[in-house]
Amino acid sequence: AETWDSVPLAPPDSIFKLTAAYKEDTFPQKINLGVGAYRDDDNKPWVLPVVKKVTDMLLHDPALEHEYLPITGLPEFTAAAARLMFGADSPALAEGRVTSVQTISGTGANHLGALFLSKFYGWYEGKEVYLSDPTWVNHFAIFRNVGVEPRTYPYYDANTIGLAFSAFIETLQTAPPRSVFLLHACAHNPTGVDPTREQWSQIADVILAKGHYTFFDCAYQGFASGDLEGDAWAVREFVRRNVPMLVCQSFAKNAGLYGERVGALHVVAPSASAATRVKTQLSVLQRSEISNPPAHGARLMALILNNPELFEEWKRDIRTMAGRIIAMRQELHGLLTDKYKTPGNWDHIVNQIGMFSFTGIRAEQSQALTEKAHIYLTTNGRISMAGLNSHNIEYFAESLDKVVR
Ligand code: PMP
Repeated sequence: AETWDSVPLAPPDSIFKLTAAYKEDTFPQKINLGVGAYRDDDNKPWVLPVVKKVTDMLLHDPALEHEYLPITGLPEFTAAAARLMFGADSPALAEGRVTSVQTISGTGANHLGALFLSKFYGWYEGKEVYLSDPTWVNHFAIFRNVGVEPRTYPYYDANTIGLAFSAFIETLQTAPPRSVFLLHACAHNPTGVDPTREQWSQIADVILAKGHYTFFDCAYQGFASGDLEGDAWAVREFVRRNVPMLVCQSFAKNAGLYGERVGALHVVAPSASAATRVKTQLSVLQRSEISNPPAHGARLMALILNNPELFEEWKRDIRTMAGRIIAMRQELHGLLTDKYKTPGNWDHIVNQIGMFSFTGIRAEQSQALTEKAHIYLTTNGRISMAGLNSHNIEYFAESLDKVVR
């Protein structure tokens, strides 16, 4: 037998498969709504002007060298990233209770957080994590890889195309004490459905009462609403209420730094000494996995976050992206309800938040969109709003109207 005879062929990643099919399609009006990256109104990737500017600054910096970063990352990046997440005036930061480590974007933060919990968290029974149903599919593999078994909690209600709030609360109440719950901090992927502030408070009540641990995944701060502060509200509220937690932070979407892999893991500890101990262990784990995080993206973000003028420019760029997405939501909603008088209620298109929208269409309808109209989307009916623009939105609305009639 040959060495790798027992290795089965793995299926291709479904999103990448979708993109490949889209690329091969020669139909001129084809649309790709699978992609999870921002596109401008001409369907082109967008380099944020502020990112262009700081890239230029770095290139012309005579002091630039290529030494290793510290194991836990560039300190001026991790400190600024923490202030962005928790607020510059956060008491937890002032008390030294937050430990922050630079990671390989949000994916790496999820991995390091999961690995840390797997090694050190005091589970009541087996090592399990509760994920929202549905969630970013990668969450399942990330936790399984470190020996933590994923379970799910009800999140999305297909009947209301909204939050399955009472079923969610019930799972929080019936899960074993000290369970780990992964919560999307804002702009839930894939549904675009977030709890209201009142609902977040009730979620925090039960989490505190049951002694659960919150694993926040925050991949869309600022990108969701255009407001960095507003999108961090749930995280900050949980910190204020002393919910035991960690936060995974990504700059892929809000800075358009997909390929730079710049992110951070923040563990909010009950005391400064606990935070220090946690940091030493995160450092040991990080050492064995990547030794040192990559420098370029962290330097770019450190420049932006630590310079008030550049920070303002970044906020403008974020509003450009979020504003275009929100405008597409409104236009699509208007086309379906006013122009085509498409059967059903489409208010969820404007009520959902972030890059993705769950349209609520069935699998066979989304398949029909692909087969008849050359519009590519995942079969769960999720569309990336970033794939819509002023040139293709009419065609999309018209095609959607046809398949739901
Ligand atoms: N978490 C969620 C919920 C996401 O949607 C994503 C991006 N698709 C990530 C984490 C991680 O992305 P990245 O590793 O590119 O930061």
